[in-house]
Amino acid sequence: MLVRSRITIPKLGRWRSFSSFPRCLNKIDSSKTKTYTNLSQILEFAIKTTGPIPVSSYMKQCLVHPEFGYYTTRDPLSPISETSDFITSPEISQTFGEMIGIYHFTMWLLQGKPKEVRFVEFGPGKGTLIFDCIRTFERLSKGTVSYEVVLVEASPVLREEQRKKLCGDTSLNVLEDGTWDAKTLTGKRCHWVETELDIKKTGTNYIIAHEFFDALPVQQYEKTKDGWREYMVDFSEKNVIRAKTDPLALPNRTTITSKELENPALRFNFHSVLSPHETPGSYIPKNNPRYEALPVGSRIEICPEAYTYSKHIAALINSGSGAGGCLIVDYGPADTVPINTIRGIKNHKIVSPFDDPGNVDLSADVDFGQLKQIFENQSCQVHGPVEQGDWLHEMGLGFRTDQLVHIAKSENDKQKIIKAYKRLVGKSHGDMGSIYKFLAVLPSGSQIQPVGFGGSL
Ligand code: SAH
Repeated sequence: MLVRSRITIPKLGRWRSFSSFPRCLNKIDSSKTKTYTNLSQILEFAIKTTGPIPVSSYMKQCLVHPEFGYYTTRDPLSPISETSDFITSPEISQTFGEMIGIYHFTMWLLQGKPKEVRFVEFGPGKGTLIFDCIRTFERLSKGTVSYEVVLVEASPVLREEQRKKLCGDTSLNVLEDGTWDAKTLTGKRCHWVETELDIKKTGTNYIIAHEFFDALPVQQYEKTKDGWREYMVDFSEKNVIRAKTDPLALPNRTTITSKELENPALRFNFHSVLSPHETPGSYIPKNNPRYEALPVGSRIEICPEAYTYSKHIAALINSGSGAGGCLIVDYGPADTVPINTIRGIKNHKIVSPFDDPGNVDLSADVDFGQLKQIFENQSCQVHGPVEQGDWLHEMGLGFRTDQLVHIAKSENDKQKIIKAYKRLVGKSHGDMGSIYKFLAVLPSGSQIQPVGFGGSL
């Protein structure tokens, strides 16, 4: 079924912030309303109206546009490989969520066994990680802890997957404030919110963000002799020769060869351009001492939403009288600044972020250095990042894998368990053990050295 969105087109003559940009097409449909059938049309219209848009606006629309966004319209982690785009650690093995459950049990012990806790997950996907985590926590704490689960999820499709996983047949209640809740299979309250602003800033919050920060929109900048300038997304007809270099079109690259430019498969309507003058976004690197010493020609990526989310997470952690914490798991450099890392992911392959907007997953490296700085500025205690393989071993993944191999029903099952273990901890190409990193954030004034980060019980 075709989804249709009706948008009123404003009259021509609105303020255009980028009138000095070279553009190939300025015609706007003269009718007042137009029916859009895909995200490209909406983005094209937006750019023709206001001029090039920030890279972060493009990325956000592609991911969570209510009708045509990537996450809002599908389950990207579908078990059917033809329709899935990527796979995450909790979907590879139940042991991943179990280790996170053990971690939270150790935190709970070290923090004086608070009677009531709240597990909060940002971007829970299919709900597998939180399911395995609370199952393990409940078993270890012998059901003595009263807890609720809060899931921050923008996608109605994934909310439904999470409900099925955690609550079985129980349907969702729509609450007066527009959020939802239901009882889990073990009778605990599970509350779904669309933004972290709906989470109560009281009590002990144990927060998990696994592959959430990489889905937040980033902005790209270049330092010029006149100061920081922002990369913006512009629209052209496909057959028009674009700027000679468009690094954003190819992830993890800073130049494109002439041969690649001639490749029709790499010609997209959308492409990036460097703003010739200051934009509201160019004040972000300008005012941050972290970027001051970088030479002219440097290119950087900044995630402004990581800042707002981290500030809220810090407030949630600091609300628990010294108990609580956050575990962030993602990919990205431990202490250097990411450059040009936005990539599209489709059917387990990397593609250009300009390929088929809204139908391709977009993500960018997480700047762990930036996260550390933000949490420390909120007076939280930060530990890590440590590599996933090391963290999982420290939490006992080797022992748990042996146990599962021992009780496996067939040789085939044994091999699957071992393969999953190697994928999670391995540090070779294609494995996840060194690419993914764990960062622990503890409340202000906490003296605890968390398990997995050099501490012990
Ligand atoms: N943590 C899961 C899924 C990772 S995919 C796993 O590891 O399997 C990213 C998740 O973040 C999805 O659930 C997606 O819908 C959600 N998401 C992306 N952007 C979001 C936003 N702005 N607000 C809330 N959820 C978001």
